Amino acid sequence: MSERLEELRGRLDAIDARIIEALAARQALVSGIGELKLDEPLALRDRAREQDLLARLAAQARAVGLDGYFVTRVFREILDHSLRAQQEGLVRRHNPDRKRSEIVVAYQGGEGAYSHLAATKHFAAHDAAVSCRALATFADVLEAVRDGTADYGMLPIENTTAGSINEAYDLLARMDLALVGEEVLRIEHCLVALEPVPLCNIRRIYSHPQALAQCSEFLRTLSDCHIESFPNTALAAEKVRDERDLSQAAIASQDAAGRYGLHVVRRDIANQRENYTRFVVVAASPLKYDLRIPCKTSLIFATKHEEGALLACLNILAAQHLSLTKLESRPRPNNPWEYLFYVDFEGNLAEPRVQQALRELAGKTSVLKVLGSYPSRTSRETQPVEPRPAGHAPATSADPRSTPGAGGAVEQGACGPVSPSVLQSLQKAPYKLVSRATRLQDTVIRVGPLEVGGAARPIVIAGPCSVESREMILECARVVKEHGGDMLRGGCFKPRTSPYAFQGHGYDALEWLEEAGRAYGLPIVTEVMHPADIEPVARRADVLQLGARNMQNFSLLKELGRIDRPVLLKRGMMSSIDEWLGAAEYILAHGNQQVILCERGIRTFETATRNTLDLAAVPVVRERSHLPIICDPSHAVGAWRWVAPMAVAALAAGAHGVMVEIHPDPGQALSDGPQSLRFERFAEMMQRLQA
Ligand code: PEP
Ligand code: MN
Repeated sequence: MSERLEELRGRLDAIDARIIEALAARQALVSGIGELKLDEPLALRDRAREQDLLARLAAQARAVGLDGYFVTRVFREILDHSLRAQQEGLVRRHNPDRKRSEIVVAYQGGEGAYSHLAATKHFAAHDAAVSCRALATFADVLEAVRDGTADYGMLPIENTTAGSINEAYDLLARMDLALVGEEVLRIEHCLVALEPVPLCNIRRIYSHPQALAQCSEFLRTLSDCHIESFPNTALAAEKVRDERDLSQAAIASQDAAGRYGLHVVRRDIANQRENYTRFVVVAASPLKYDLRIPCKTSLIFATKHEEGALLACLNILAAQHLSLTKLESRPRPNNPWEYLFYVDFEGNLAEPRVQQALRELAGKTSVLKVLGSYPSRTSRETQPVEPRPAGHAPATSADPRSTPGAGGAVEQGACGPVSPSVLQSLQKAPYKLVSRATRLQDTVIRVGPLEVGGAARPIVIAGPCSVESREMILECARVVKEHGGDMLRGGCFKPRTSPYAFQGHGYDALEWLEEAGRAYGLPIVTEVMHPADIEPVARRADVLQLGARNMQNFSLLKELGRIDRPVLLKRGMMSSIDEWLGAAEYILAHGNQQVILCERGIRTFETATRNTLDLAAVPVVRERSHLPIICDPSHAVGAWRWVAPMAVAALAAGAHGVMVEIHPDPGQALSDGPQSLRFERFAEMMQRLQA
């Protein structure tokens, strides 16, 4: 190693040591604040303060040449850990008898198994020394908790790709144990082997059946390869290490690869890019939680065999405003065709409303078992906040960007309530499901954490016309995020007038777009042009766009109706509003109710602009339909100078958002350069929209 390298690394080590010291000092202050919160009725979390803090830190970071989003991510982790530490303080206060010497956490599998990672994550803020113990089966884990050889057990209960883990549910019903916590772990499956061998050399793959199921699509692409289930991902990795056979591989975590000295041959091989497992923490007796900690409560019950029995039980929860987060049914042992229901809801056993609900449930059920209350890791209020974009006023219920007059009202066109005569005339329209006459209330479409439509804050989608390279889309994503954009757009498959024009980088572009969206926490939207592309694109994109030129491509419309992904339906450049709503009707009629309409300009005699932005379509559509509508001023005007004014006008007209094209160097753009905003112009537009 050269002397220079050694010197630089030495300086890095010194800086890292200072970062650790600073974190420790910060942690001490956090504990001090935690102490205050023990005795005073202070909120555990102040989301507005966190938003401001993250915004300030991002600005400070940018001022010294750092990536604001990177710094935000680091601090989100720090804030999350601080919150957990303060929660720990409260838990200790409410449970003075809880064991404080070394605690033992049992899990199924081996070192580096996902359950082990979840246990490490969960108990990181715990004040006692923690030792994790690997056991062979789920039943062994629960047995260890019951006989006291372990203080806690970590049990995977459901996965967002493969669904519920039935064995875990069935064991919980049989054992008399309490749930005292939950943990959520992002699962990033890797194919790991002794050496970084090419995929085609691999003849045998081992993993847990759940992991194999979650990676089924990747596994199907391999030929002449034997797939074998194994009790656990970490044990599979261990086997690959021990047998020293270069043709073997395991599906396991990157952590497991590191522990067993294996190489990652391919990363992120799961069918779904968002793949999470939820674990429950089991103990011999329940814990009490302060009401300031957002909690969930879990129950198991069997209903009496009466008409409407399940509904009556759920109504009891609804009447107490207890929001359900999970409902699962499992066969009731030894009672064929009868079921046990597992219910999780947001609430704490210490609350009177929860106690009331349980008293009423007892009268409606033949079995009722309360598994316990525990701090939630999935409720919205427990998720990290986003930094407040520059220029945004502190969040209040009356957000200045919210649509005036919307909110509590049931019938809400852009100009106020929809009159009965309009509703009556809509009865004759050739569309039904998209019609306001069918659904009075505005449809609000969820895209990850975002809400589009109704009274939700208007959204801004921005990005290049075409995804031209990995670097370019990453740069665009950074700028969109930095200036408060909500979603990243980018064309991978481009509909071009000339067959000699750039047609898009296809699936390579989609991979880059996905990476950029993920790196900056932005949902992504991209256009599909062929029915065969819909499924594969839907697996990676958050929203699928149907372009103006394909608005009446009925094969595409029907296929888009079969998926469970929001569709951004652009208005055809020569289509009337009712034809457009008819196209949306196709999607809804085939099952998919998640359509966002996009006005992008129509052809008129006017040639000064590329198209004519039909802003009147916004209030008309909002009167005729409950679907959200956004505007794309870029394709409408065709020149960047007029994009910002029309974006402002679109929101004033009542649009639920805007979509604009941006480019790092519009003069060099491969498509739609003249209408693309350079980054400074986009920043200016965002300022105007936020003002
Ligand atoms: C696009 O959004 O890049 C696009 C091609 O739009 P439109 O279908 O409105 O022309
Ligand atoms: Mn374009």
